Amino acid sequence: MPHWTNLSGLISPGIKQLQAYQPGKPTDELERELGLKRIVKLASNENPSGPSPLVREVIASACGEMHRYPDGGGHSLKNALANNHGVSSDQITLGNGSSDLLDLIARVFLAPSTEAVVAQHAFAMYALVTQATGAKARIAPASDGVGGTHYGHDLSAMAAQIDNSTRLVFVANPNNPTGTYLSGPALEKFIAELPSGVICIVDEAYYEYVETDDYPNAINWLPKFPNLIVTRTFSKAFGLAGLRCGYSVCSAEIAEFLNRVRQPFNVNSLAMLAAETALRDDEYLSRSKQTNAAGLKQLEAGLANCGLSIMPSVANFVCVDMGASAAEIYNKLLHKGVIVRPVANYELPTHLRVTVGLESENTIFLDALDAVLEK
Ligand SMILES: *Cc1c(COP(=O)(O)O)cnc(C)c1O
Repeated sequence: MPHWTNLSGLISPGIKQLQAYQPGKPTDELERELGLKRIVKLASNENPSGPSPLVREVIASACGEMHRYPDGGGHSLKNALANNHGVSSDQITLGNGSSDLLDLIARVFLAPSTEAVVAQHAFAMYALVTQATGAKARIAPASDGVGGTHYGHDLSAMAAQIDNSTRLVFVANPNNPTGTYLSGPALEKFIAELPSGVICIVDEAYYEYVETDDYPNAINWLPKFPNLIVTRTFSKAFGLAGLRCGYSVCSAEIAEFLNRVRQPFNVNSLAMLAAETALRDDEYLSRSKQTNAAGLKQLEAGLANCGLSIMPSVANFVCVDMGASAAEIYNKLLHKGVIVRPVANYELPTHLRVTVGLESENTIFLDALDAVLEK
């Protein structure tokens, strides 16, 4: 067996400085650790209702075909999505979750000595996929609350980070973990004023949940912005996080490059089938949105009752300031069988991110929090 004297010297510079993505704690891990029976997971912004009944049915009926490779071109799902969005199917690229798309985009456009601009407190995958290519992530300070929502993206600060090495700008709308969003006019102006040669990714992972009037659908801007890529996912409102399916919509020219780096079977057949079925299940989606809207109100009211301040959220989670080390409260909540998400890795050491659950789950969380804060 060879003995590495200097393994770290062999690692590509981009990878050497990477910190792996920290996912929410899985339920069965907490069960093993603490032997708890009742666990409520509000840690990964999953749809608390479970998958749509139509999806359950179609997956059960598809088991007999699992010895076949998926359709690597994803024709059926791409056509359904193209139809839904009024674009052509060659503008759609499917991914193993939308994280896959973020990675493909980074690999197509970034290399060492190029840069991507990312906002402070933005979704962690942007800096990760950027650094993995050897490129540099330039972090723009978040809004201080004067020119935009406190902790949200500050578009002028992002524009100020752009220079000749910039290839990509990542915009999360709404952003995770802050739940903040950018209005249509502000974001449209930002994209219109980007220097030519800078690609803007608008990540709309929570699009279906947002009910605010001035929230834009960036897919509508594609005809006028050839440098725009919009990403969406089936992991959140569509309730399919475990199957991994997301997509991007952009010009056919860019999509053709994404297709070159994509693994030929990057999305599995059950995921594509489930996604196409979920797209048709309007009742499930509208029920999910209702559950979320009611749950957001419940959490906002309950947290305000505890004297805690939250960032105004348009998504399916809230980011709440505990006013003290959030790590300790997180651990105490774990012992009560409630998993939430610490966000110290987002430079928010006193905040916790809490996913909107079912009414009963939100109540369990609020009661547990009450008990934890009282001691
Ligand atoms: C959850 C999330 C995603 C999507 O992740 P998938 O890989 O599609 O499961 C993308 N962007 C943001 C901001 C998210 O919060």
